[in-house]
Amino acid sequence: MREFQRRKDTMLIGGVSATKIAARFGTPVMVTDEDALRENYRALHRAFNAVFPTRVHYACKANTNLSILRILEQEGSCIDAVSIGEVDSCLRAGFSPDRILYTGVGVSEEEMRQVVERKVPINVDSIGQLRRLAAIDSHHPIALRVNPDVGAGHSQKVVTGTKGAKFGIPKEEIVQAFAEALRLGFSPKGLHAHTGSGGSDPTVFGRVTEVLVDIFERVRSELGLDLEFLDIGGGISIPYRPEELRPDLDAIAAEVAGKLKGSSVRTLVVEPGRYIVADTTVLLTRVNDVKSTPVKDYVLVDAGFNTLIRPAFYDAYHHVAVANKFGQQAQLKYDVAGPLCESGDYLAKERYLPKVEVGDLLCVYDVGAYGFSMSSNYNTRPRCAEVLVWEGKPFLIREREGLKDLLRHQKVPPRLSQ
Ligand SMILES: *Cc1c(COP(=O)(O)O)cnc(C)c1O
Repeated sequence: MREFQRRKDTMLIGGVSATKIAARFGTPVMVTDEDALRENYRALHRAFNAVFPTRVHYACKANTNLSILRILEQEGSCIDAVSIGEVDSCLRAGFSPDRILYTGVGVSEEEMRQVVERKVPINVDSIGQLRRLAAIDSHHPIALRVNPDVGAGHSQKVVTGTKGAKFGIPKEEIVQAFAEALRLGFSPKGLHAHTGSGGSDPTVFGRVTEVLVDIFERVRSELGLDLEFLDIGGGISIPYRPEELRPDLDAIAAEVAGKLKGSSVRTLVVEPGRYIVADTTVLLTRVNDVKSTPVKDYVLVDAGFNTLIRPAFYDAYHHVAVANKFGQQAQLKYDVAGPLCESGDYLAKERYLPKVEVGDLLCVYDVGAYGFSMSSNYNTRPRCAEVLVWEGKPFLIREREGLKDLLRHQKVPPRLSQ
């Protein structure tokens, strides 16, 4: 959670009044602070490079807005992409193919061909995929993804590294897989694992590094293959609740570097998504109704799980403030719910806020990661606008969708036409 300044009772985002942004661009709207984004990237890059030569691959599934990608391209970031759509967005944003690593699961032949055509290195997820790729181009640059049997995450839904997860090549078969890659003609460049999302415990990052170093050295000694990089994936958490602490980047970096000491690894790769973008962006949403029931009081806003699905999907906590009563005392307890026709449609539960009235503007914190990127058109609602604030000025970086966008791809057979 970032701290926000206020002017009188109005919250400021990067120096700009939240109420002015909402009045000018409408609601719901997601607002990103460019300085915060650059700071996050630099802090991460600095912490790891202070202890080991490290490349940061931003996991762009967290947020693929082109302006955000442009900023990270300028900062020197590389990319972790999980689909051809992400690859093309990053190429469009100016990343050269060699700065992108494509990590898919259950990848179609068609998509593999497209990635190969674009000369983007592929992080291979299974031995079957390795063979299918060899049939397309057995000299394509690759890395292999291992399932390290080290899992972590803020929700069972985001743990990826445990035995039995659908991701990666089982630990027991990974050296074999490198041997098979060599046999097929590849010169593998790296070894990768990703434990899951939302960890802050340095020992988890240390454990996965240990597993990877062990494989790295076995590949070297048993197969004579000298890999270029060791990639420990992403998953660094952020504090979503006021009482939570920021993860200690220096401690994580030190723990990881400690495990790399004495190994033949020359380059470390880390792939954070959430850590880089989550706290750079807030969601502004207008209060349409305030309702009392015999059990609880509701604030009903114009953003539901179509706009921000994390609370409904993961039971995730997002901090909420009243942006136009920012300095005021919290007095009443509310659930904050959206406009969708589902009782699971909520943004926040049991929050103490100043007395809320229709027309107030709520600010939902930390939506920069998996906010817009997981949003949908459910209930036939347009996706929200996105705004970037820089040097005290807001700039529209994505227009709000309209009905035309929602209907664009539908076709009605002539016999049903009016
Ligand atoms: C999702 C993902 C990440 C990033 O996870 P965060 O929790 O956002 O840091 C990194 N690597 C891979 C392969 C992923 O799938």
